[in-house]
Amino acid sequence: MRQRLHIGILAAMAVAGWCVLNPFASSQIALPAQTSSARTAPAPSAPEKTEYTLLFTGDVMLSRAVGSKMATLKDWSLPFRLIADTLRGADLRYCNLECPISDRGANLHHLYSFRADPKSIEGLATAGFNVVSQANNHAYDWGPEALLDSLSRLRAAGIQPVGAGENALAAHYPLLLTVGTLRIAFLAYVNIDPHEAAAGVNRAGVAWLDPAQALADIRFARPLADLVIVCPHWGVEYAAKPSRDQIDLAHQMIDAGADIIVGSHPHVTQPLENYHGHWIAYSLGNFVFDQESPGTHRGLMLKVTVRDRKIADVQPMEIRINSNYQAELASADEHSAQHPVAEKEAAALHSSK
Ligand SMILES: [Zn+2]
Repeated sequence: MRQRLHIGILAAMAVAGWCVLNPFASSQIALPAQTSSARTAPAPSAPEKTEYTLLFTGDVMLSRAVGSKMATLKDWSLPFRLIADTLRGADLRYCNLECPISDRGANLHHLYSFRADPKSIEGLATAGFNVVSQANNHAYDWGPEALLDSLSRLRAAGIQPVGAGENALAAHYPLLLTVGTLRIAFLAYVNIDPHEAAAGVNRAGVAWLDPAQALADIRFARPLADLVIVCPHWGVEYAAKPSRDQIDLAHQMIDAGADIIVGSHPHVTQPLENYHGHWIAYSLGNFVFDQESPGTHRGLMLKVTVRDRKIADVQPMEIRINSNYQAELASADEHSAQHPVAEKEAAALHSSK
């Protein structure tokens, strides 16, 4: 019943038109790097841009030792300095932001409670992140006040959060934005405890990954955009492969209309899979984090090329995290995550079914 009400409200908003399709953000969003929105006709002599590059990175945690290092060095862009140029070469940049950015709230004392200094937002802006997911198991570590403060601070910095909001409708509503003339819908979810972080009808929180709800959200978003991008925070920490349930759900998400799935949470990279021509990255691993376990100081970026409104190419690029918690491209001799490996991993994935 609740779900039907939710979809009914979404459908009513859809018929009201594009300009009100981001009722939870400040306005319709055209990315800052772009000089014109989708509704501004290009000058007659200017050929329309038909190719775009989107960069997806994994878990970014700016609290704990990463936060201490930035504060000690008084350098709030430190984690991104060595990779900012690479990031800025793209038309859109995404990460999973595994902490609230706030000076408010109350520590709920989860096993690890993260909250990043508001100054650390400077690094995300310097790196040019346009979209960050707050649908993860740490966004609620300091409760709803810190989460909502984080969302408003991000928006004020020109960074669009997805997967969290002042209620379930806001958390599940697709983030709709334009990059040039390309229309993109983002959806982000988490199914890692604490479940108390889940947004409710009248309760702020994160978008909980209920499969039926997520598939309904994807079907809702499908006609609103050229690309539907789904970012689940899921899986088992430090596991080399996704579970059968994850694989099945990823396939259902593609079947429901998602163009690409970009997952995170395990802190290590997992195989890429091509399912019916659509890529699924089950886990990109870490991008900026302070963990010590094997594999947690490496991760993948996905370089996605969009041509004529369709994903034409997906290239994994390996990164490593140095002792100052800085993300950098892995050197050539370390660089082993190009397509042949991805295909080998995909083959291994299928053999595990
Ligand atoms: Zn996580």
